[in-house]
Amino acid sequence: MVWNKIECAKREDIESLQLKRLQETLKRVYALTPFYKKKFDELKILPEDIKSLEDIQKLPFTKKQDLRDHYPFGLFTVPMSQVVRIHSSSGTTGKPTVVGYTAADMDVWNEVMARVYTMAGVTAGDVVHNGYGYGLFTGGLGFHEAAQKIGATVVPASGGFTDRQLMLMRDFGATVLAATPSFALHLAEIAKKSGPNYRDEYKLKCGLFGAEPVSDGLKKEVSEAWGIDYHETYGLSEIIGPGVSSSCKYSKLLHINEDHFYPEIIDPKTGEVLGEGERGELVITTLTKQALPIIRYRTGDITSLTYEPCKCGRTTVRMESIVGRADDMLIVNGVNVYPSQVEHVIANTEGVTLNYQIVADKKGFLDKLEILVEISDEVISDNIKELENIKKELQHSLLNNLYINANVKLVEPRTIERSMGKAVRVVDKRSEK
Ligand SMILES: [Zn+2]
Repeated sequence: MVWNKIECAKREDIESLQLKRLQETLKRVYALTPFYKKKFDELKILPEDIKSLEDIQKLPFTKKQDLRDHYPFGLFTVPMSQVVRIHSSSGTTGKPTVVGYTAADMDVWNEVMARVYTMAGVTAGDVVHNGYGYGLFTGGLGFHEAAQKIGATVVPASGGFTDRQLMLMRDFGATVLAATPSFALHLAEIAKKSGPNYRDEYKLKCGLFGAEPVSDGLKKEVSEAWGIDYHETYGLSEIIGPGVSSSCKYSKLLHINEDHFYPEIIDPKTGEVLGEGERGELVITTLTKQALPIIRYRTGDITSLTYEPCKCGRTTVRMESIVGRADDMLIVNGVNVYPSQVEHVIANTEGVTLNYQIVADKKGFLDKLEILVEISDEVISDNIKELENIKKELQHSLLNNLYINANVKLVEPRTIERSMGKAVRVVDKRSEK
């Protein structure tokens, strides 16, 4: 089932709607946000200069720092009397980023989240156990209101209190679990204690998982631990919260609600727009936001787009699951290397731990890559043959899956340099030379 027929619209209809909404948004930010007016004036661009969707490439980017610099409400385009909700990201350093919503923005948010639920087959009659954190974080309330909108029963469980959550899931007959994948796995670990048939005590049929980057291996683990369909959701508070995109029953790729959010993929180093299928940083322009419209927001997330139609009947552009963060990207002999992808390969190899370090260095004119990986405690470090096999397997997987030609060096447990308790992931010695 499809929530809104716009999700199945013809490409030309979507694009003409996007262009109309983009032009309205540009007029709005130019007239109402001194920050954007200044940026447009510097580039000698007026909103009416944007005559096609391609013209969006002439516009400046917005970065997370721009939101911080205008803390708390400096980028809002409506008076506070029209703002009905505030959310904010956790600021680990300095000020958090603050976002606001008008009543119309709340309608859009609930609309796109209703699509997310419908895409996963959730309808009236379902019981949604919402394990996302309630509060300033957009997860909890984002999943909450739309569950009500589609007529489902929502249990606002929030995070923590694992035993009690499991009891509620059993007693209230939860059919849908909305949570971060790591929390879903944690719940399963505890549930397993009641015996091998623990799944029979629950009525779960699917899960809506998001808010953290996840490898395919972990998705499979969550899906198997609960015996449910895994649906991925993607979003960020700067754009709206959860509801930017999500996966359907037929594909692992995530349908973007592109009548509200216009996506582009750029080369994170040069800012150049990349083509369909090419991996780069996701940039999003909001097309309907009232309180906080954002132009070409650099999400920092690495993905790619495809316009291929999907079996589910939706025609919206799809993105692949986030493969890494732009900040972490290394370019080695012209190949983009994301630590998260290397981590994925290591996670699928027996005998090693996820404590690793990627060291990039120069050898003559060429880059060379060495990956240090701590072996697990169970591996005997003087079993040369076993170590050699692990090393070969890792090098082989890196080359075949990621086209990375690296020298893998296995090291003793707990020997890689730690910072704040975590292994230092990337050391780039090339910049020192
Ligand atoms: Zn689909």
